[in-house]
Amino acid sequence: MNLIVQKYGGTSVADVSCIKRVARRVKRTWNQGTKVVVVVSARSGVTNDLISRANAIRKQPDDREMDMLMACGEQETISLLAMALHALSVPAVSMTGWQAGILTDGNHSRARIREITGGSIRKHLRKNKVVVLAGFQGLDDDGDLTTFGRGGSDLSAIAMAGALNAKTCQIFTDVDGVYSADPRTVPDARKIPAISYEEMLELASSGSKVMQTRAVEFAQKHNVVFEVRSTFSNKTGTTVKKKVKSLEDMLVSGVAIDNNQVRISVTDLPDRPGAAASVFKVMSETGVVVDMIVQNVARNGKANLTFTVPSEDAFRAEKALKEEFANGGGGKLGRSTKIAKISVVGVGMRSHSGVASKFFEALAEVGVNMLMISTSEIKISVAVNPDDGEMATRVAHAAFGLGK
Ligand code: ASP
Ligand code: MG
Repeated sequence: MNLIVQKYGGTSVADVSCIKRVARRVKRTWNQGTKVVVVVSARSGVTNDLISRANAIRKQPDDREMDMLMACGEQETISLLAMALHALSVPAVSMTGWQAGILTDGNHSRARIREITGGSIRKHLRKNKVVVLAGFQGLDDDGDLTTFGRGGSDLSAIAMAGALNAKTCQIFTDVDGVYSADPRTVPDARKIPAISYEEMLELASSGSKVMQTRAVEFAQKHNVVFEVRSTFSNKTGTTVKKKVKSLEDMLVSGVAIDNNQVRISVTDLPDRPGAAASVFKVMSETGVVVDMIVQNVARNGKANLTFTVPSEDAFRAEKALKEEFANGGGGKLGRSTKIAKISVVGVGMRSHSGVASKFFEALAEVGVNMLMISTSEIKISVAVNPDDGEMATRVAHAAFGLGK
């Protein structure tokens, strides 16, 4: 089937005039003779608004009821968009996640998709109707509504494109693609025409957020090629796929900055097997995701351990550690500090040496001190003082020749 899946995010359907604009775009695609499934988010702000109302009633609302509530935002936009299409004489039908047979496990607010039957989607498409599908929602075995985590409409679109074997999946948003760095920090950042799933995931986990990470993981696993592009322009965006041939064998594709991490240090940790494990066990039991980790060589039987956690989890992490140490777990809590994490990402580093030295030299030249370093096969991250973050991003971007 010659099918295109288009997804429009919250800012793209923010109000009635935005919804009309989306309808015109959809009509243009439909006029070309392609079948179209449109996945939409809630209007921007609506999901947050629903959540805060729930929280005004209960601190910890029941998660089944919470999903029932959060799924409302998307149901508003699907019907409005279907009406806007009708107004343009385009036959369209709105569908909820359950009507489209999006079946999930029962983990409310972070459900995983198990199967997509498609429900009556194919029948509607054969009749040449545009199907307008509510993103972010599915149905579990008990027949209860589930949602996919914040930003989960991206996942709905990718999964539906995979299930229906769509020719193209377009993620329309308020930026016109994935950039070599955040253009607000690095004015000469360039739009990347094509990027691999793994680079996109590393950039996302390093602080440059364009799409829901789970959606990119799903695309990678099921090999769904997609394009990130702007609702507000006609420019081509960034294609995300398995392998990308780069023009000049680029070492680095992008530089990301994450300003949202706190470095926690633990001193006087007994130098014996299991000491570090007990610290991270406390973190995992507290539900805190640890990112960079550095352990110093032990002296006098004591070691120091530093690691970073998301800022919003820092207080919880410290509290749990204080309790652990007060109850006889070895170690002392040191002072925590905010850091900025700068990451350079590129599949080119798998086969080339010298990326680390180039990166570190660039930082040294402008007198930026590195507090921590961590690496993966295709990423090098350094923690720096928050005041140095933007400067470090700019010099790294320039050092790898990423500018215009
Ligand atoms: N409306 C949901 C949210 O705000 C899902 C989405 O926008 O993708 O997280
Ligand atoms: Mg979104």
